[in-house]
Amino acid sequence: MSEKVDLRSLNLEECLTFVKSLGWPSFRGKQIFSWVHQKGCSDFSAMTNLSKEQRIVLAEHAFLRTVTITDCQRSQKDETVKFLFSLADGQTIESVLMLFRQKDGHDRTTCCISSQTGCPLGCKFCGTGTLGAGRNLTVGELVGQVYAANQHCKEIGWPFLSNIVYMGMGEPLLNMTNVLKSLALFRHTEGQHLSGRHLTISTCGLVPQILALAEEENPPELAISLHAATDEKRSALMPVNRKYPLAELFAACSVYTNKTGRRITYEYAMFQGVNDSMEDAQQLISLLRGKLAHVNLIPANYLPQTGFYPSDSEMIKKFADKIEKSGLAVSIRYSRGQDIAAACGQLKAQKEQGR
Ligand code: SF4
Repeated sequence: MSEKVDLRSLNLEECLTFVKSLGWPSFRGKQIFSWVHQKGCSDFSAMTNLSKEQRIVLAEHAFLRTVTITDCQRSQKDETVKFLFSLADGQTIESVLMLFRQKDGHDRTTCCISSQTGCPLGCKFCGTGTLGAGRNLTVGELVGQVYAANQHCKEIGWPFLSNIVYMGMGEPLLNMTNVLKSLALFRHTEGQHLSGRHLTISTCGLVPQILALAEEENPPELAISLHAATDEKRSALMPVNRKYPLAELFAACSVYTNKTGRRITYEYAMFQGVNDSMEDAQQLISLLRGKLAHVNLIPANYLPQTGFYPSDSEMIKKFADKIEKSGLAVSIRYSRGQDIAAACGQLKAQKEQGR
C-alpha cells in the first residue's frame, strides 16, 4: 500500500476492502467505519476497541481528514454559531450551526455546510461569489464539517445535528460526486443515520445536475436559489441564468418533483429596490402557480462588497402576504447571526480582505 487513505472519505464497502488489504477481518472495518462516521472520531487513539498495535498500523496506512476550527463566533442575538475552518492546504471554508427551539421540546440543530472553497458562478449579491472560483471539497472535508459541528454541540449542550443543508460556500452540484458520497455517509445506518428529508441541497439551478439528482435512489430535499422571477432580472443577479434560463430550470424542477414526490423550496433573498416590488411578487406567483413549491423569503444580510441592501421588514411582509393570498406556501426566513457575519462567504471575505 503506497499512499495513505483518508478514512473519512471511505464508504463501508471501501472501508471493508481497506481492512482486508491489512489482513484484518471485516468486522474491524465495520468498527472503524462506525468510529469515523457515527461517532465522528478524529483521532485513532480514541478507537478503544482496537489494540494499540492495530492503531499504530492504522496510522501507518490511513489518516482522518480533519477540518480545523480557526474561528468560532457565537451570536449574542440568537442561537447561531459560525465556524471558520482551515483545510490541510491552508484554504478556509465556513459552516453555520443553528439551534431551532421547538414547542414540543424536540429541538432541531441544523448545520449549513460548504461544498467548495469559493465559487465560479459569480452571483452578484453573494460574498462567496466575490471570492472567485475555489476547489471542490473532498468527502472527508464535507463530512468533517458535520462531525466538528457535532463535537461543538456536545461541548455547548446542544442536541446533535438533525438537519444538514448544503447551502454554504460554493455550488454543491459542481461537486456532485463528493456531495453524493457524503449524503450516503450521512444517511448510513452505521453513520449519522439521517433520512433524505433531513438533507437539503441548495443549487443556483444547474439543469443537467438537477436531472441527474432526480435519478438518485434516495434523493435529498432540493432548494433552488431563485431570487428573481424573470429571465432579465435573474440573469442580471445570477449569470448562471443565461446558461439555464427559467423555462429550462423549471422543466428540470418538474422532473425532480415528479420523480421524487418532493416539494421544492424556492429561496428568494430580498434586496431593496431590486426584486421586492408588488410587481415582482406577482411575477413570482405567475411563475410558481400550480407547482409543488414552497417560497422561502430571505431578508438578505447586508454585504458592503456587493452593494445590495436588504429590503425593509414592512416590504417583506407585504410581499409575503401577496404570495400567501395567491395560495402558494410561503415563509419568511428570519435572518440569523447578523452580529457574526453569518452570510455565505462573509466571514472568510472579512478575514482575507479585511472587510
Ligand atoms: S449564491 Fe451560491 S452559486 Fe451563487 S456565487 Fe454564491 S455560492 Fe456560488
